[in-house]
Amino acid sequence: MIEMNNEKNTQISNNKIATNNAERLSHKIIIDGMLVSAISTETIQVINPSNARLIGHVPRCRSKDVDRAVRSSQKAFSHWKKIPARERGKIMMRAANRLEKRRKELETLLSLDTGNAIRTQAIPETASAIELFYMFAGLAGELKGENFPPNMEHVLHYTTRDPIGIVGAIIPWNAPLFLMVAKIAPAIVAGNTVVLKTAEQAPLCVLLFADILQEELPAGVLNVISGYGKEAGEPIVVHPEVRKITFTGSYEVGKEIMAKAAPKLCPVTLELGGKNPNIILSDADLEIAIPGIIDGMRYTRQGQACTAGSRIYIHEKIYDKIIEGVVKKLSELRMGDALDEESDIGAIISEEQLNRTLHYMELAKKSPSVKVLHGGHRPADPKLRDGFFYEPTLMEGIPIESPVCQEEIFGPVACAFSFNDFDSMMQSANDTPFGLSATLWTENLYRALQFVEEIEAGFVQVNQCVAPRANVSYGGLKMSGLGKEYALDSMINHFTQSKTILINRGKLAHNRSC
Ligand code: ADP
Repeated sequence: MIEMNNEKNTQISNNKIATNNAERLSHKIIIDGMLVSAISTETIQVINPSNARLIGHVPRCRSKDVDRAVRSSQKAFSHWKKIPARERGKIMMRAANRLEKRRKELETLLSLDTGNAIRTQAIPETASAIELFYMFAGLAGELKGENFPPNMEHVLHYTTRDPIGIVGAIIPWNAPLFLMVAKIAPAIVAGNTVVLKTAEQAPLCVLLFADILQEELPAGVLNVISGYGKEAGEPIVVHPEVRKITFTGSYEVGKEIMAKAAPKLCPVTLELGGKNPNIILSDADLEIAIPGIIDGMRYTRQGQACTAGSRIYIHEKIYDKIIEGVVKKLSELRMGDALDEESDIGAIISEEQLNRTLHYMELAKKSPSVKVLHGGHRPADPKLRDGFFYEPTLMEGIPIESPVCQEEIFGPVACAFSFNDFDSMMQSANDTPFGLSATLWTENLYRALQFVEEIEAGFVQVNQCVAPRANVSYGGLKMSGLGKEYALDSMINHFTQSKTILINRGKLAHNRSC
């Protein structure tokens, strides 16, 4: 009884911390270092996915607010780019210390905003986001070019790595703090200034994170607006003063962004979707492979991850054993209010996304060969009736060509397949337009190396299936995106531009031709 009361108390206190911040940040955006009202007076409701109740409003910004944010970033850029890189890094370190001190506020608001369970998701995501921020702050000294051996007599030849200018960053709702940092931290430390658009479904935790940063960053280095994609995102993409776009989201929107940025030859970084294989060979260590399937599918984030291993290939020799183990573990996961520290699984972000899962499940159930091994329904618990909950679901017998196996569901739904031939399994694993992540479980080094060589994915793991993190370069192949993030190369390749310099210290420069 006492224990239950403690649980309830923690949930109430978590709720209170989160709702206080939600109220304070409601109706605000960040311009010129301050929380301000938007020019647009229209708003978007922010809904708690765990119970469908209103937690706040954010401005539905349009071009005028984008223009205002860009002007602020432009003014800040002329000053920020001149601050020595190591000095910028120190400012960011101080900002990271402030984030660290307010970690609890960030975790609780992240959980309230996204419906992601606080213990299994929001706490680790906040930690990873702050760690990534520290990492980029510490990389300031790496913003260096190259020095070349003399190609011409008396000529000093080198390159510099300079900031690009104003960066437009557009993020989704599924891991908003980590994804925001992956964009703003390398951009800012490299001397750029940023206009960030939050996802309309989970904007408040991003505002809080950015608000804390304002205590150290000069005004205008990071402006944050909210709004819908077409109304607030597109004006950032096409704005003539925005010189770089970094985006995480769906393939459909990524493609549109690339086309819209093309006329001004604006470079884009795109982190898009996936339909990722998780492959278990007959000699795999089942003690790690079974939990690896659950972790890999990101079931405790309701499957809402680009890297979710939603196509599970299991060798026929161990198929039954694996399925039994996975189903047992799935049935032990506790689903509940995201702010309850006892919950392993929270709620799907929105009614729209829940309907997406329901749509794919309806499609799946139409196929006569389909067998639902676990889940396949909304939970029966009346306490969860109002929230956007869906049971973690595992199915078998779905034809591989079904949209359920080909399209990114972004919900807690995975398909299992039995195989007996490595080569045909690999062919099937690669038979998708996506190429984001892939995992293999085996003790066989030869097969592991063959898999690494043949798999068409940008983020490949053997005998583990961890989420992307700081200092692990991450990005997709094929229709899963362009460019890599989360490591030094992303800062250099995506947020700086190179200048080549030739200085002649001799008498005569030979002007051959250009
Ligand atoms: P999801 O399906 O995960 O919501 P989206 O790709 O639809 O992914 O959205 C990701 C982000 O892109 C969100 O911030 C959204 O508002 C924004 N967005 C959507 N459409 C556009 C667009 N046409 N131009 C710019 N940003 C957009």
